[in-house]
Amino acid sequence: MRYSGFEVIKQALRGHRGWGPAWRDAAPRSEYDMVIVGGGGHGLATAHYLASRYGITNVAVIEKGWIGGGNVGRNTTIIRSNYLLDGNEPFYEMSLKLWEGLEQDINYNAMVSQRGIVNLIHTDAQRDAFTRRGNAMILNGADAELLDQGAIRREYPWLNFDDARFPIKGGLAQRRGGTVRHDAVAWGYARAADGRGVDIIQNCEVTGFVMDGGACTGVETSRGTIRAGKVGVAVAGNSGRVMAMAGMRLPIESHVLQAFVTEGLKPILPGVITFGAGHFYVSQSDKGGLVFGGDIDGYNSYAQRGNLPVVEDVCEGGMAIMPMIGRARLLRMWGGVMDMSMDGSPIIDRTHIDGLYFNGGWCYGGFKATPASGMAFAHLLATGRPHDTAAAYRFDRFRTGRMIDEKGMGNQPNLH
Ligand SMILES: Cc1cc2nc3c(=O)[nH]c(=O)nc-3n(C[C@H](O)[C@H](O)[C@H](O)COP(=O)(O)OP(=O)(O)OC[C@H]3O[C@@H](n4cnc5c(N)ncnc54)[C@H](O)[C@@H]3O)c2cc1C
Repeated sequence: MRYSGFEVIKQALRGHRGWGPAWRDAAPRSEYDMVIVGGGGHGLATAHYLASRYGITNVAVIEKGWIGGGNVGRNTTIIRSNYLLDGNEPFYEMSLKLWEGLEQDINYNAMVSQRGIVNLIHTDAQRDAFTRRGNAMILNGADAELLDQGAIRREYPWLNFDDARFPIKGGLAQRRGGTVRHDAVAWGYARAADGRGVDIIQNCEVTGFVMDGGACTGVETSRGTIRAGKVGVAVAGNSGRVMAMAGMRLPIESHVLQAFVTEGLKPILPGVITFGAGHFYVSQSDKGGLVFGGDIDGYNSYAQRGNLPVVEDVCEGGMAIMPMIGRARLLRMWGGVMDMSMDGSPIIDRTHIDGLYFNGGWCYGGFKATPASGMAFAHLLATGRPHDTAAAYRFDRFRTGRMIDEKGMGNQPNLH
């Protein structure tokens, strides 16, 4: 079924009894051309682009839980392409362009909302750094705008300008950034891939890899063995655990990241704001809740729940720039497991094992990357060559020292 305004009216007249399931509940077959492990945003996007751009449809996406149950349904929904380094900016700008056409591409309302993002500036040195980043963005075809304090005050008059511990001196804006409804991205990609014949297999855990003469030729799962010409792994926070089944130790650590949402409030926050003197970012959902987050918990964990010290730190960040947030009641909070790489940038690469490919190390910024990650991984799987925009995301950069260290933090996964 194709979704459209006409279809909504037609179904309304028939009591909404004609809507079918968005995707089939496929049972695993014994063999596919390609198997994607992980039904998160990246795995599902990969399947969609394999089918729609490369005509490869004999594909299964194997998900141990349910579609949208991982980080793709747990994040704070922010999209942007405001990166500095050459290895990153073209990739994230491609992603933003794909977001701009996504709903037409997959015929699904993912609530892509380019409401803009502003990174607040608190010192003169930070203004210099953000100016440099804005120029790098413009050189790569993205949009960037440097705002002075007056402009920020006009757009966000209720921020703390007058007695703040970290005075607001301006901001770097990207007007094309914004938010996207996170779980709708998973559902939309799943439906689009399924519509082209991809099997989306839920409640099926990959428990091992099938190896023949040193090559990977399939996966062992909780529902039996599945053979495949190529296997692509995109399991985000579980990357270390899953690749260990192939005997690989990754330059990745898993950490928890928490998110918070308040009760619904009247519209106050038109775009996304990030605090420049601490780690705090906030937007307002279409239902009115303030959605915000901050740092990772800072120790290794596979638990999808967080701890109180970071809650305190995040709330302090919020109070520092918008004291009124202290009056809002917190409705919910949750955690997701992040695949933090050593330099803060991802990996989309073949492994040393024939037939086995890897996509991970997204740290806590992988939601905005979902379309480009799917496109680049599909390109790699289909052609055997890296996509132009993802050519730097190689395993061997950790051996050769060609780091993509956007934050300049060094080999410190907990700080990226
Ligand atoms: C609280 C929070 C806030 C965030 N905010 C943002 C943000 O604002 N902007 C942004 O860009 N990014 C953000 N992120 C990061 C982003 O959500 C992730 O980087 C991205 O979603 C990871 O890719 P994914 O969607 O494929 O992961 P997931 O949805 O986690 O998909 C991986 C899937 O693999 C499955 N899996 C694992 N092991 C196996 C196995 N053995 N067999 C089969 N399946 C398996 C898991 O069940 C899971 O469904 C945030 C993350 C969190 C947790």
